[in-house]
Amino acid sequence: MLTLDTPLARVVGDKTAKAMAEQLSLRTVRDLVRHYPARYARRGDMTKLTDLQVGDRVTVLGQVKTSSTRQMKQKRGSITEVTVGDGAGSMRLVFFNHKHAHLGVGTWGLFAGTVSMWNGNLQFSHPDCQVLDSPDPHTDAERWATELLPIYPASRTVSSWVLQKSLQLVFDDRATLEGLLEDDPLPAELRRRYDLVPLAQAIWDKHHPETDEAVERADARLKWDEALVLQVTLGARRIAATREPGIARPLRSGGLVDAVDAALPFSLTDGQREVGDALAAEIGREQPMHRLLQGEVGSGKTVVALRAMAQVVDAGGQAALLAPTEVLAAQHARGIGALLGPLGKAGELDGDPAGTRVTLLTGSQKAAVRRAGRAEVADGRAGIVIGTHALLQEGVDFADLGLVVVDEQHRFGVEQRDALRAKGNRPPHVLVMTATPIPRTVAMTVYGDLETLTLRQLPAGRGGVSSSVVPVKEKPTWLDRAWQRVREEVAAGRQAYVVCPRIGEDPTDDAGADAELDDEGAPPDDGSAKRAPLAVLDVAEQLRAGPLAGLRLEVLHGKMTPEDKEARMRAFAAREVDVLVATTVVEVGVDVPNATVMVVMDADRFGVSQLHQLRGRVARGAHAGLCLLVTEAPTSSPTGTRLAQVAATTDGFELARLDLETRREGDVLGKAQSGSRSTVRLLSLLRDEELISTARAEASAILAADPDLSDHPELAAAVQALTADDRADWLERT
Ligand code: ADP
Ligand code: MG
Repeated sequence: MLTLDTPLARVVGDKTAKAMAEQLSLRTVRDLVRHYPARYARRGDMTKLTDLQVGDRVTVLGQVKTSSTRQMKQKRGSITEVTVGDGAGSMRLVFFNHKHAHLGVGTWGLFAGTVSMWNGNLQFSHPDCQVLDSPDPHTDAERWATELLPIYPASRTVSSWVLQKSLQLVFDDRATLEGLLEDDPLPAELRRRYDLVPLAQAIWDKHHPETDEAVERADARLKWDEALVLQVTLGARRIAATREPGIARPLRSGGLVDAVDAALPFSLTDGQREVGDALAAEIGREQPMHRLLQGEVGSGKTVVALRAMAQVVDAGGQAALLAPTEVLAAQHARGIGALLGPLGKAGELDGDPAGTRVTLLTGSQKAAVRRAGRAEVADGRAGIVIGTHALLQEGVDFADLGLVVVDEQHRFGVEQRDALRAKGNRPPHVLVMTATPIPRTVAMTVYGDLETLTLRQLPAGRGGVSSSVVPVKEKPTWLDRAWQRVREEVAAGRQAYVVCPRIGEDPTDDAGADAELDDEGAPPDDGSAKRAPLAVLDVAEQLRAGPLAGLRLEVLHGKMTPEDKEARMRAFAAREVDVLVATTVVEVGVDVPNATVMVVMDADRFGVSQLHQLRGRVARGAHAGLCLLVTEAPTSSPTGTRLAQVAATTDGFELARLDLETRREGDVLGKAQSGSRSTVRLLSLLRDEELISTARAEASAILAADPDLSDHPELAAAVQALTADDRADWLERT
């Protein structure tokens, strides 16, 4: 008796099960049942072959037009050449040694392989193939021509039809499927209201659709499951986070917030003031705040956070600022310390007793420094505590933690946020800040347990940043011009960044080896073999010897010791360095307003949001910034187009959308999503905004009426499965 949890080995045998597990992450009957076809082919569809591109690994449907077998001239053995056509296009199949010599003219088959080109024609060399039934004069020819044939996401050794046959072993009729499935998680009332088909029908129709409409209905229904379960999970988190009362930290006039405002060398933008007021009001309440602040690169989120922290300090509490890198934590400590002046040094000789202390805690600190820091945090002398994940460690105890600020949030998980939250005697207020604007669907899913606030406006008086693509293959002289621009800026007293995708000490290292690198990385490229990405150490050496000789040039990357990194950043900020050649350690938050040029080498190796973040480093001051995206990609290639789009707009929301288009859903929701076991299979962050938002509203309504889901046991089970599934750990990482 099969159940959803039955291992596939019991259905398809050990060998196939092993291949399915390794190549497609399919392990149980449940996984297989939820492994939906990627598309459907029709015998009567006459266009598919013409769409093929060399290099595609595909399954196509066609009819054998010619077939001939001959002895090979040079080698022993025979070769069978078969032409298949679909009416519009045709392609050559080549088999060796009588394999499939039986493919008779007129036979229909599914052929799977990698498309190559031979004498100007598309070709498959020894593809896998499955012969389909020929039309039977007794069956309806029309029906035969329009029948939908599921094409499953396949792998090297597990073909679409192996998957189809395996599914037939699991269920070959509706009744068996119904017996197998869990209870429908969608409340019947909701199904009625949105006109959704029952679960068993949806799954049946995915695998055995009669019509396109059946597929659409099934998709609509299954996407609802995904959206609702996700939103109920997130909604439950939102409720849980605010259920237990925290401590109200009302704004006090004449206190540290006013002192911060007075010390600022600029006046706040309207946006900063508005967002600040909203946060101040919420922090003034007992119910713990749980907010996401998203804002354009350079929109001034740090000041907003600082004012919120000052409010909490004024009210007698402590605030912790969690930064993703040591460079950034040190920069925040330095910047905030400078801004507060004597007010940030209470207890020191030149400190103001009415102020507080700004304490930095990072993993690389010497034991004595760390001990002293921890003591200040524990006895409450430190009002503002800034650090990396070292803050989360055991042994870091707060006297009275009132506010947690997570900067550049995408590098931290919910778990880490919770670990810090747990250090409050009562639940602290939480402010999470994203590095760049995010599309609404991402806000509702990846960050769905937080309510969003948006800072759209940039401070006035910014020089702005203009960007250009430097296509070195087509315009080799442009790169010389780029270095000349760097020299001009340096001559004018400005500074420059040169960013490379790799460090370079070790030939095998890559972006991923840089401990502080973003785990997003560049979008998957087209698979063509490329040279290794340019490396910081190599590029720095070449620049020193050539185009930038004589300039004060230093490197910065994640493999340097934290002290060295900090020293380099300090030197750069103090204008002792003209050009900083770096990895993406400078991507997030680094703030040196005097830097005005950035040259990104191998720009095609970075993702859209990453490039936008990087570029944000040279748009920070009154001087106009320049960002040059150097690439070997042809201007007309998809990569070239993507870079041109990045160069053409500085609107972070538009770029975030573009980013979503160029990355697979899985990359957005987290690693776990890319596997076929993911919870979100059909739902698209790009296309299903309306559904996600409707599901969010329905989820809130369900939870408002039934917070523990005791009246919705099937839904509760689905939520439970999502939370418990370790492959859904992306939820934990948001
Ligand atoms: P981000 O939102 O990217 O974290 P930051 O908080 O680092 O941006 O601010 C970017 C730069 O803008 C900093 O140098 C900061 O001092 C400056 N800044 C912030 N607010 C204002 C303002 N209202 N007017 C002028 N400059 C500002
Ligand atoms: Mg920032």
